Amino acid sequence: MSDLQEIVSEIVDAMRAREDRGEVATYIPELARVDPGAFGIAVIDREGNVAVGGDADTPFSIQSISKVFTLTLALGKVGDRLWSRVGREPSGSPFNSIVQLEREQGLPRNPFINAGALAVTDVIVSGHQPREALGEILRFMQFLGQDGAIAIDQAVAASEQRTGFRNRALANYMKSFDRLDNAVDFVLGVYFHHCAIAMSCRQLATAGRFLAHLGRNPETGLSVVQPDRARRINALMLTCGHYDGSGEFAFRVGLPGKSGVGGGILAIAPGKASIAVWSPGLDPSGNSHLGRIALEELTRRLGWSIFGM
Ligand code: GLU
Repeated sequence: MSDLQEIVSEIVDAMRAREDRGEVATYIPELARVDPGAFGIAVIDREGNVAVGGDADTPFSIQSISKVFTLTLALGKVGDRLWSRVGREPSGSPFNSIVQLEREQGLPRNPFINAGALAVTDVIVSGHQPREALGEILRFMQFLGQDGAIAIDQAVAASEQRTGFRNRALANYMKSFDRLDNAVDFVLGVYFHHCAIAMSCRQLATAGRFLAHLGRNPETGLSVVQPDRARRINALMLTCGHYDGSGEFAFRVGLPGKSGVGGGILAIAPGKASIAVWSPGLDPSGNSHLGRIALEELTRRLGWSIFGM
């Protein structure tokens, strides 16, 4: 067994034994049905060695982790013009806060809070039917995750369509400031569905590899974005990837990362590895409780924090 696999296996055992698991998200009813005891992890290093443990091959709802990939697509479509639509500063507010949006005239702080992700989705929808825009996002995930079987969990999407009142409020509010070009329902429909993409830790870690290696998957050699764009996406993940828990994540883990309320976290060790963890119980900021603890342990043992040992 490789050293990396050994460390991953030990972390899985330690996480499985813990009783503090956080609380599974219930505001999207379908997510409340997920087993809080699940735990998975996948680490893929530069050479393509894969270390996995626990439920690494069980698909889960990636939720806000999809925002890293919609950001990548929107930047590909409109380049730096995107930054006239959404800011680049940490919000220090809950992911679905409406207060800040009012103070800042409907201009979202960053692409990873819900309002910012809606602005990004709006850019992707422009010029397309919602179905085409969604198809583009899904195909991008299948390409990056190297698996054509990656799909949208329709039950999760429908559940959020029915209950996403807060996101509806955010989108309508932004529309009132003329911050969305497309119909509110189109943007929301595509947003809810891309959040409902289901992927396993292994697929997600595969999809993140371009971010760990200057925009390009080192194994396939295929370039996804220019190196400076990968660097900037990582910077946003570090400063904004965990909502108002972003400071704490940087402090404890020290890697760019993006969490989702499905309990997943994608973390990037630049030049070293792409890592995905999944544990559905969340901390009060809406980030995976054991996912964060597992990453803290992994980076500590491997000396992978970008801030040094
Ligand atoms: N679809 C979720 C929402 O909009 C995503 C939130 C998250 O994962 O943080 O509420």
